[in-house]
Amino acid sequence: MTSSPSLPYWICPELAWIDGRMHADKAIALSGDGLIEAVVTRAEVPAGQVVEDLPGAALLPGFVNAHSHAFQRVFRGQTEFLRTGAEHEDFWSWRQQMYGAAGRLDPQTTYDIARRLYAEMRAAGWTSVGEFHYVHHGADGSALSPATAMADAVIQAAVDVGLRINLLAVLYHTGGIGEPARPDQRRFISGSLWAFTSLVEALLARWGSHRLVTVGLAPHSVRAVPVDWLEALAQWNAQHHLPVHMHLCEQTAEVEASHRLLGAGPMEVVRRAGLLGPGFVAVHATHLEADDPARLANAGAMVCACPTTEANLGDGFLPASALIEAGVELCVGSDSHIVVNPFEELRLIENNERLQRRRRNVLAKFVEPAADEPDKRRVAPFLLDVGARGGARSLGLDAGEIKAGQAADLVAVSLRDAALEGVPMDFLAEALIFSADTRCVLDTWVAGVRG
Ligand SMILES: [Zn+2]
Repeated sequence: MTSSPSLPYWICPELAWIDGRMHADKAIALSGDGLIEAVVTRAEVPAGQVVEDLPGAALLPGFVNAHSHAFQRVFRGQTEFLRTGAEHEDFWSWRQQMYGAAGRLDPQTTYDIARRLYAEMRAAGWTSVGEFHYVHHGADGSALSPATAMADAVIQAAVDVGLRINLLAVLYHTGGIGEPARPDQRRFISGSLWAFTSLVEALLARWGSHRLVTVGLAPHSVRAVPVDWLEALAQWNAQHHLPVHMHLCEQTAEVEASHRLLGAGPMEVVRRAGLLGPGFVAVHATHLEADDPARLANAGAMVCACPTTEANLGDGFLPASALIEAGVELCVGSDSHIVVNPFEELRLIENNERLQRRRRNVLAKFVEPAADEPDKRRVAPFLLDVGARGGARSLGLDAGEIKAGQAADLVAVSLRDAALEGVPMDFLAEALIFSADTRCVLDTWVAGVRG
């Protein structure tokens, strides 16, 4: 990592990803308030300005990690074996091990784990994170002082690494639909909706003016939040307009229980509660029902895919073709942080379709060709957009594109990297999506600050 000149200044990469393609000879002005001020040709930079050339580098909008549980980084590698006497492992047995890790956290360990993870994220090319944060209380379920201590620790870790964060405060009340919370869930539990909105308001008061910090809502799932609470939360948010992220249709057992106990599938339950709208993000959506893509599209809602975690947990496949055909926008997250690699999350959206259908370039069918190459449909530009602009939209951020007025959140990749060297400029996006590893990442900028 290299320190940058003080703002404002210009950066001139060898290539820049602008409007869905690579351009040579561009100059990007980073303003003192952390925004992209202008994008011009290199020759148009006014004389006397501070200019930093980036030879051998391609500049892209930074990736946005829209779904993270930071603390789950702490048991990486430690659930990847069968224990004698427990030969059937699935999401639910993994969840039991995860609760064990959650039970051992305090604000300091939470900070340490998150800081290590966020440094890993930034080195991998992510410039923002949506932290789906649900460990709010002490190990016995009692309130900490201040009540935001655990969330504060996570936010402080992001700020100290220079990663932009939306703290998605999780609302969690029941252990299953209509069931009381279990003892190992009590660290997550809000006793009343008022207690939860008070926590959110405290976070907004403490962090709302920080340049790198925003706050969102995360009703955990239909398993964890009663329907009348979902309705009340939708009404509360009509005044606040915060992004709403929710685990939805991750497991068939959740979909079946929703039908049995609530009389409709999870997506329809959320729609009836008034939560489905342009600020809503369904996380996972691996077991959608036939009408769900249309429900999401009609509401302008998004889906967050977490393909490496979904593979690791055996969740199932994102129905990417159905969602994209319906017009649902996507974003990605590294969720449980088995790996922290934006290229891999994005390539799996396409590769998983190929594996299931035994065909190639499956999602390209839904992408319009550019005017100057009407015979080519390219999925890679679409996926780069999912990773940056899609993620930014999901967190309510003005970021994700290299253009004036957007946050100066950027990633530079090395054109000399072994995976990218020799690839023609016109196919660099494809090489990034299908072949790159995070070692190609040279540097990131967040709010114009390199680090
Ligand atoms: Zn999750």
